Amino acid sequence: MSVSQLARSIKASPTLKLNETAARLREKGEPVIHLGGGEPKSKAPLDAVLGCAAQLNTGEVRYAPADGLPALKKAILRYTEEHYGRMLAPQNVIVSSGAKQSIMSFLYAVLEPKDEVVYPAPYWVSYPEMVKLAGGVGVPVLPEDGSLEPSVPDIADKVGSYTKVIILNSPNNPSGVMYSADFVAEMVAFCEKRHLWLVMDDLYNRLVFDGQKAANPYDFAKVTGDASNLVVVQGVSKMYAMTGFRIGWTLGNREVVEAMTNIQSHQTSGPVTVSQWAAIGALSGVQASIESLRLTLENQRNVMVEGLRTIPGVHVTKPSGTFYCFPDFTAHERDSQKLAELLLERVRVVTVPGKEFGMDGRLRLSYCGTMKEILDGVERIQWALDPQAPNELFLGDRKLVRDWA
Ligand code: PMP
Repeated sequence: MSVSQLARSIKASPTLKLNETAARLREKGEPVIHLGGGEPKSKAPLDAVLGCAAQLNTGEVRYAPADGLPALKKAILRYTEEHYGRMLAPQNVIVSSGAKQSIMSFLYAVLEPKDEVVYPAPYWVSYPEMVKLAGGVGVPVLPEDGSLEPSVPDIADKVGSYTKVIILNSPNNPSGVMYSADFVAEMVAFCEKRHLWLVMDDLYNRLVFDGQKAANPYDFAKVTGDASNLVVVQGVSKMYAMTGFRIGWTLGNREVVEAMTNIQSHQTSGPVTVSQWAAIGALSGVQASIESLRLTLENQRNVMVEGLRTIPGVHVTKPSGTFYCFPDFTAHERDSQKLAELLLERVRVVTVPGKEFGMDGRLRLSYCGTMKEILDGVERIQWALDPQAPNELFLGDRKLVRDWA
């Protein structure tokens, strides 16, 4: 007996694995600082909790339609009109069990075997594995100029007769870079001209700093309605700090939404009903929590970037959004896996190796924890890497003495 070749080709989610490692070490009493996390620490909005609790209290929690509760689709349509300026129909929306399932259902719905899906590097860790699961081939595009910003010619270069989909994620996990409106406009036009699906993974588009605003892809779309090739993925996980509720959604043309609905109807049925009521509460209730989270993250980004810039040899692009940054550590260690292991071993700081996002020599560091975690985490990284740092460091009441050159 054996597992399939496909199953063998799929890696565990490195970020979820790191959560387990951090939890295991903490249980043993180790003073771990987790800078590898992917979720805000704030509470879900009160309206979400109340919406969820009200439904739970009825004791009647039933199956929801495979594409989501009509009331949630209505709230999503209202949100879309307000934030994307587009009036869509309920047939253009499908709710899924997290944005992860949104992307997965979409890929199942459109890919033929060996079809190619192009995405810029650094990319979200799950894209390559999701594409593989759906029978396709992932094609990462590394920026030619070594920056974190993709260019249209670099992407166009990788598009061939097998290309079916382009995925863009801006602001980007892991870099925090936000793609310019010009770039998004050109990509929308490019995909329309070449008849490619364009997926905008917009999960972080409200968590943007310095008074900037994420580009709205619908502003540039010339092809609309049933012929639209534009697919927008959204969810409550990041903007409302509701990761555990597992609610995401996709906006697309009727045909693709119907195909995704059929797939989900056999896969998971509709997303968890009480979570959908939580999402309705979040989308329809007081919106202040988004701005409050955004401000907190902006402040924490400033502190982390300032701290990292004091470490000799570390280069960091200031993120325009998300809660990640993606500093370059090549002056210290080119192998990001080795570097992440070293930081965990020497100073008990959890980070995610850049390799997992398609770029070695970098680490993804999150600033969604507490300010103390950020300050202590950066101090520990500095101590581990900078030979000029003092010879001793205290982790809680444990004294570390440098025993390496
Ligand atoms: N896209 C990106 C870029 C993400 O970072 C994540 C979550 N880490 C997702 C999609 C999936 O989000 P969800 O938790 O809603 O499944």
